Parts: sequence; structure tokens; C-alpha cells
Amino acid sequence: MVIGRVEGRQIGRHRGQALVISAVALVLAVSAASGSLAAAAVQPANPQPGDPLPACAYRQVTTRYTAYGDWKMTLLDSRERVSSDYVPPDLVSVGQADIAGSGRVRAVMIDDLRAMAAAARRAGDGIAVRSAYRSYADQAAVFRSWVRQHGYAAALLESARPGHSEHQLGLAIDFRSASSSRAPWDYPDWARTGPGRWMKNNAWQYGFIMSYPKGKTASTCYEYEPWHYRYVGRAEAAAVHASGEVLRRYLWDHFETAPEGS
Ligand SMILES: [Zn+2]
Repeated sequence: MVIGRVEGRQIGRHRGQALVISAVALVLAVSAASGSLAAAAVQPANPQPGDPLPACAYRQVTTRYTAYGDWKMTLLDSRERVSSDYVPPDLVSVGQADIAGSGRVRAVMIDDLRAMAAAARRAGDGIAVRSAYRSYADQAAVFRSWVRQHGYAAALLESARPGHSEHQLGLAIDFRSASSSRAPWDYPDWARTGPGRWMKNNAWQYGFIMSYPKGKTASTCYEYEPWHYRYVGRAEAAAVHASGEVLRRYLWDHFETAPEGS
């Protein structure tokens, strides 16, 4: 029962009793008005301090950190989203980082992206950008395309719905090998190529984390994507790497459900 579950989640939580009552009343009102229990599921409760990482679910929860300055902490997954008008104010061409390929990313990552591309090049495993910032509208088109090709259920695992994509943050890059314009997803496993392996082993040192590693779909909610990296800055990336956790769990535990002011 959706109503019972939502009610149970609200009662006894940290937020005020008035909010609890109004939230339950809203759920009941929406359900009564629509005559459908499914309507209650579109407005789930926001995460509370100490909540364990939820199982993968497709919801529309506004993520906690939506300010552009809070970019390191912004968690997006199949539940958590930003709004359609979230457009980072400092998007610049990836060319500013002296890396091949095209697209835009937030200026906050340019220095580290330049250093990483140079290091990969020195190692003989040059990388390039296949895809970077995507607007809400771009992501909607990408998702529709996946649905057309593979059906809705498969698309959910392969592509984020609009508002849920790290690409909308301007902090995610799909990398490819510099030596070939072949898409990284057209390899059996891009992480087994020179550049893909170099990235897997070294990207964290430059502030980039592979968001959806192999064998972790139950935690990440997406299929393995060895080409997709999210920039969180060097200090945070080192902490994520040391934790051994996937980025979704790390952000959830350290920021999304951290107590206020911690
Ligand atoms: Zn991607």
C-alpha cells in the first residue's frame, strides 16, 4: 500500500509534526482526487538524516544541493533530480582544457581536465571527449532515442531521464580514445583498452570518478559505463576512491543525508 508506506516514512521523522500531517493530508487528498493510489507515489518524501541508501527506484525527488556553488555535493540518480531550468552558469568549451572532442563543461573542472588529458597523453593512452554537458531538453531527446531503440525498461538502465543526468550538471564527461572516433560503448569493454584502463586507474587523482562501475548496478541503478566520469574535485575524488564506495552511495552518505551544518 503506497499510502501506508509513505505515512510510515513520515511519522517519527525529524521534521516538524505540522509537515508530517500536511504531507499525509496531501497524499490522501491527491489519492482521493485521482482515485488512484499510484498518484501518491509521484511525491515521495525527501531524504532525511541517516536514511540508508534506497533501492533503485524511479521517482522525482528534488536533490538536496541544487545551488551551482554546491556542485561537489549534488547527487543525481534514478530518484533524485534537478529542475529543467538547471543550467550551470560557467559552461566553457572542453577545448580550453586542450583535449580533443567537443562539448561544454563547467569551468571549475578545466584545470584538472587539462592535467588529466596531458597525463594520459604522456602515458600513450590519449583520451578525448565524446559527450559533455547536456541540457534538460538534450537529455529528454537522448532518453527518447534509447526508448525507441530498446524499449522503456532497458532505456531506464542505459540512460538517465531528463533532470536525473549528471550531464546536466556540466560535471560529467563520456570519454573516448583519442586515437579513434569510435564510440566507447561500441567496444566490448572500453576499460580494457589502453585509454579506458588508464582512466579507470588514474582519473580519481584528477578529481574524476567512474559513476557506474562494473558489477555495481544494484547500487548505481545504471548499467556499467566505463566511459562516464563525474567530476567532484580532487579532494572529494580521493575520498571516494579511498572509501571503495560507488559515487552514489558516497554522496548519499556524506552529503544528501548528512545532518544540517555537518
Ligand atoms: Zn555519460
